[in-house]
Amino acid sequence: MTYRAPVADMLFAMRSVGMDEGIASGLYADLADGMAESVLEEAGKFANDRLAPLNKIGDRHGTPFKDGVVTSPPGWREAYQDWAQAGWNSLPADPAFGGQGLPLLLNAACSEMWNAANMAFALNPMLSGGAIEALLAHGSAELQNLYLAKIIAGEWTGTMNLTEPQAGSDLAALRTKAVPQGDGTYRITGQKIYITYGEHELTENIVHLVLARLPDAPAGTRGISLFLVPKFLVNADGSLGARNDVRCSGIEHKLGIHASPTCTMIFGDEGGATGWLIGQENKGLACMFTMMNNARLNVGLQGVAIADRAYQHALWYAQERRQGKAPGSQSSEMSPIIEHPDVKRMLMEMRSKTAAARAICYATANALDRAHRLEDAGERKAAHEEASLLIPVAKAFSTDIGVEVASLGVQVHGGMGFVEETGAAQYLRDARIAPIYEGTNGIQAIDLATRKLPTADGATVRNAIAKYRHAAEALSTLNEPGFARAGAILTEAVDALDRSTEWMLKTLPQSPADALAGATPYLRLYGVTAGGAYLARSALAARVALAAGASDGAYGRALRDCRFFVENMSVAARGLETSIVEGAEAINGAFLEAAE
Ligand SMILES: Cc1cc2nc3c(=O)[nH]c(=O)nc-3n(C[C@H](O)[C@H](O)[C@H](O)COP(=O)(O)OP(=O)(O)OC[C@H]3O[C@@H](n4cnc5c(N)ncnc54)[C@H](O)[C@@H]3O)c2cc1C
Repeated sequence: MTYRAPVADMLFAMRSVGMDEGIASGLYADLADGMAESVLEEAGKFANDRLAPLNKIGDRHGTPFKDGVVTSPPGWREAYQDWAQAGWNSLPADPAFGGQGLPLLLNAACSEMWNAANMAFALNPMLSGGAIEALLAHGSAELQNLYLAKIIAGEWTGTMNLTEPQAGSDLAALRTKAVPQGDGTYRITGQKIYITYGEHELTENIVHLVLARLPDAPAGTRGISLFLVPKFLVNADGSLGARNDVRCSGIEHKLGIHASPTCTMIFGDEGGATGWLIGQENKGLACMFTMMNNARLNVGLQGVAIADRAYQHALWYAQERRQGKAPGSQSSEMSPIIEHPDVKRMLMEMRSKTAAARAICYATANALDRAHRLEDAGERKAAHEEASLLIPVAKAFSTDIGVEVASLGVQVHGGMGFVEETGAAQYLRDARIAPIYEGTNGIQAIDLATRKLPTADGATVRNAIAKYRHAAEALSTLNEPGFARAGAILTEAVDALDRSTEWMLKTLPQSPADALAGATPYLRLYGVTAGGAYLARSALAARVALAAGASDGAYGRALRDCRFFVENMSVAARGLETSIVEGAEAINGAFLEAAE
């Protein structure tokens, strides 16, 4: 059983979050005439045929480390070269530097495929994408001209160097130093940990983006600057010069994504690595935040991706494996386990959660596209605020779903899920990192509550809730058995989100500890409600398509996913509201004994 990119479902999800309107209005003129379909078909082939077969090999082989050199698993170098040559790295990048300038919505669907096929492989281009974005937004013309085309073409890769042993979630504590040399360069010294693809042999150069402090920098986050530190210095003509003073001193042994080297990086063993400032001094965190929006969406997509792969595998296994007799079975033989209601429940939960998380992530990509592409400045600003509101939900809700679905995938396999043979266990191991990196899901919940809800005095979130309400009410009127009830449940969820949002906005300034105690259940409530609302929009469109004679396929799945998700996931909204509004006392008053 291998991965098959679900192109029809992806395209329908793209349509449901606004691709067709975008094509009609000109926003997505570049996706017209079947362009989206052709790109996804081709991407699907690459994901299925080239990346998916390397997933298990990468997991088993890992990336052995010796004398500063990280060795890739067999076949990875060739796959990376083919990937870059096929132009997949340059899909959304700026055409001024050789990119194709295609929409983030299209890239989101492709990114889901790369990660589903092989998450450890896909992390490398994901990090490069972040570096491209930061350089484009904040780099000097000189740095852009020297580096961008190479990274966009995939000839060099990029990394993100934030974390230090004492500075994880709290970047204010970072200590890496940058001393100006008077010639426009800086000497960088310090240690960074957990750096994804900090060292590898897939490309001839690696471009590190490094957060560090100037000698006279103010304390805290206002004293952090961003630097570009290449593994090999680059001559004015773009050729490679001397090795820079940065090296990998070791790699981590970890639960999953074994083929993605997680490196400890030492800057300045021999006096200091040469670095160049990106953006302004002491404004490094703001530069990093530019790339974080996309990076966080991409990590959310990892959750969707791994969930879909786990679902496909579990579905296949449930058809093959026979045990017991399903209710109503007339056969003398054991039933395939897919016929047991409890196994059906698990598979429907897997598929509908994946669909909801996909819809949230694609809607976020669409909002980002509008924020970049719309002509009217006011509309661009509103779209940017909508995207910023959705980003923490896309990241945290989807990556939690990734873990939950991968765990259900193991359960569907029974004992065969716990042993490594089938691959179900690898999905769970790989999925587990996504709620941790790129800002833990706890930090995302705090971001949503403290920074995103108060945006525009609460108008952004209230507008979003009004849209969810509209979708829920429309669902009630859908001419389809069971949907009046689903519409009523979703409307109740929207009510719970509405009340909880107002409670958050009111409580945050008065009693932050109470509000923060409810931040994670609030994000979950947001996810089960918005997810239900996006699936409702898909269901409404699917009903129209089916009435016009379309065959069941993606449309039928959209209807069934919506009903199941609302009846089983959105239905939790009232309970979540109780946890948010009334849970703080038991949390803040809790007495936790000291560990011995
Ligand atoms: C495989 C892997 C790859 C990585 N890749 C990179 C990379 O490429 N570049 C890079 O710079 N970093 C990378 N990281 C680091 C990653 O981003 C951090 O691990 C993550 O941000 C969490 O930091 P921490 O591990 O120090 O945990 P901590 O910050 O110590 O957090 C521990 C727990 O405390 C909670 N917590 C912390 N602060 C607060 C708070 N203020 N309020 C509420 N709860 C809080 C957290 O949510 C978490 O549950 C990677 C990590 C791993 C494991």
